[in-house]
Amino acid sequence: MKVGVLALQGAFASHAAMLDEAGATPVEVRRADELSGVDALVMPGGESTTMSMLLDITELREPLADRLADGMPVLGTCAGMILLAVEVLDGRSDQRSLGVVDLDVRRNGYGRQVDSFETDLEVDGLEGTFHGVFIRAPLVERVGPAVEVLAEVEGRPVLCRQGNVLVSAFHPELVGDARIHRRFLEAAFASGAGTT
Ligand code: GLN
Repeated sequence: MKVGVLALQGAFASHAAMLDEAGATPVEVRRADELSGVDALVMPGGESTTMSMLLDITELREPLADRLADGMPVLGTCAGMILLAVEVLDGRSDQRSLGVVDLDVRRNGYGRQVDSFETDLEVDGLEGTFHGVFIRAPLVERVGPAVEVLAEVEGRPVLCRQGNVLVSAFHPELVGDARIHRRFLEAAFASGAGTT
């Protein structure tokens, strides 16, 4: 399965490595024609305000919104989660999100003192723990009824799924553990992506 990694800005290279390890063919996506050739997409961490701006400059926003509306599987991590959420709190006023996962998230919501932290997560459906690296991570403030919470930190969701959309507040691409990417690919296959 060809899986795009949105490569406008941020931590896209390590996602490509994890996708490769999980058995997919990663493809960097910067333009609409590249997006149209992939079966699924990863939206990496980075800076959601910059990425939002670059989505407009590169004219990727509309084709991306169309693919998402068509049910293309997407994995959004950190800034990617922010861009996919319905509501962004403490965002920049010109920042626009794609609104495909029914979450309200607060940018940099873990506050200054614990800006960045690491913790072992219990993830629904995974054996053992998954090492979660949080870097100026978004804090989930509201979870809609259609959203399934797969992992939490102190009662706050950090890994969530709604249909074909999987989002994490942490960086699953940074710890040399491809299990979250593998799970994303399995769900994508199960939904029919990459079979036509
Ligand atoms: N704080 C960043 C933002 O608002 C996200 C940080 C990250 O992706 N590691 O976009």
